[in-house]
Amino acid sequence: MEKEEAQSTRTIDLDPDHEFRFEVDFNVKVQIKLLKGTAEIFGTELAMNVPYTFSGRKAAVYTWHGCKIEVKGQFLVEYTANETPMTSYFNAHMAIQQMREKAKRDGERGPRVLVIGPHDVGKTSLCKTLVSYALRQNEKPIYVSLDTSEGSITMPGTVTATCISHIIDIEEGFGSSATTAANMGAPTIPLAYYYGYENPSENVKLYKLIVSRLANAVKSRMSTDDETKTSGYIIDTIGLIDHLGYELIQHIIGELEVNVVIVLGHERLYSDMTRILKDKSHIAIAKLTKSGGVVERDRQFKSQLQRSKIQEYFYGTPKYELSPYSMLVNFSDISIWRVGEAMAPSSALPIGMDSTENETRMVKVENLDMCLHSIMAVLSAPDDIPDNKLLDCNVAGFIYITDVDEEKQKVTILSPSPGRLPRRHVLMGSFKWMEE
Ligand code: ADP
Repeated sequence: MEKEEAQSTRTIDLDPDHEFRFEVDFNVKVQIKLLKGTAEIFGTELAMNVPYTFSGRKAAVYTWHGCKIEVKGQFLVEYTANETPMTSYFNAHMAIQQMREKAKRDGERGPRVLVIGPHDVGKTSLCKTLVSYALRQNEKPIYVSLDTSEGSITMPGTVTATCISHIIDIEEGFGSSATTAANMGAPTIPLAYYYGYENPSENVKLYKLIVSRLANAVKSRMSTDDETKTSGYIIDTIGLIDHLGYELIQHIIGELEVNVVIVLGHERLYSDMTRILKDKSHIAIAKLTKSGGVVERDRQFKSQLQRSKIQEYFYGTPKYELSPYSMLVNFSDISIWRVGEAMAPSSALPIGMDSTENETRMVKVENLDMCLHSIMAVLSAPDDIPDNKLLDCNVAGFIYITDVDEEKQKVTILSPSPGRLPRRHVLMGSFKWMEE
């Protein structure tokens, strides 16, 4: 075994403007160590001689000036590439940075950048890079994630805003910067609203409403924090290129008062955006090319990623392990809500009722059996909140229903914090999970 490991340890020399691309399976661990020169992963610099461990990851170690790295373990894919779009990404950062400098001089708001494109073109990776570069210039940008399928900050199904004020973790990306912040009690815990589904098309009206709520919160944060105000924000999105996608893009641009649109890896989307936004001269539109390193993730990888995000929420990561608490809650101490059965055809509704009204109506779940193995968002809501105000509330945390006992009228929940259920109102979406 030791011999095998020793054999798989090797060094790689990377020339300037080259990258080492790799893929690692979920149940395998590999290590990468920088031995000489400088290198970064999605904009975050690697420290010298520190072994970084990766599992279930696809990424690239990029170097501007050349470096030597040591790699150890079984990679699914590994190769060195010399064609990367990093210079154009860096130039995009420089243009955004100039907007920040101007905002500081003129006492205005900094750039509000939206990154759009199809699935799997490197949107999240580009956002990470732009945020990291901003951080390296002592900026304090907000990373806004409207990608409900991935949960790059917390649970899938959530839209989030995170004030990035310390370095993004090399091994775990954004995920752990939030976990670490939470562990350290730092004031950078992400602000989250729960949509509850993977895809915006599952309940468009709800998705738009949740985006609007998040937008208001982000804008008010910007108006009270001077540093955030001039650093601005970077918005990551889910693949939005169809008719509905265009509608959502315009909603996001309006609500988040976007003034820079970056279209990644899709010519038609770029040309359509130029046409659609032609009367809005205050919005700059740029296109960037997709990196050849971006990997298309199949359905199986995506579900595995979602499962590992959920697992991470409760149990932490190998680096920051957490021990969740299991507790019994009386049926009478918890109110479980679903957002109205969205897809009822109008013919099935009472005369005079608009089918879209149903899409954001709160429905109390009476049959708790259906909640078994569900992920629930605990809402920051007072006990006596009216039903129609529940969706205005952000997420205080998540719980998982491990058991429902009808006879004893109790549910067993898994929660990251001890004591009792912090708030009584919880929102259920479509995410189920089985502990492994
Ligand atoms: P999107 O947000 O558009 O869906 P991502 O940024 O999540 O795309 O990229 C898809 C996958 O490709 C991710 O697993 C990401 O880590 C990986 N990836 C992105 N850029 C590179 C690269 N240059 N080399 C290797 N893997 C990459």
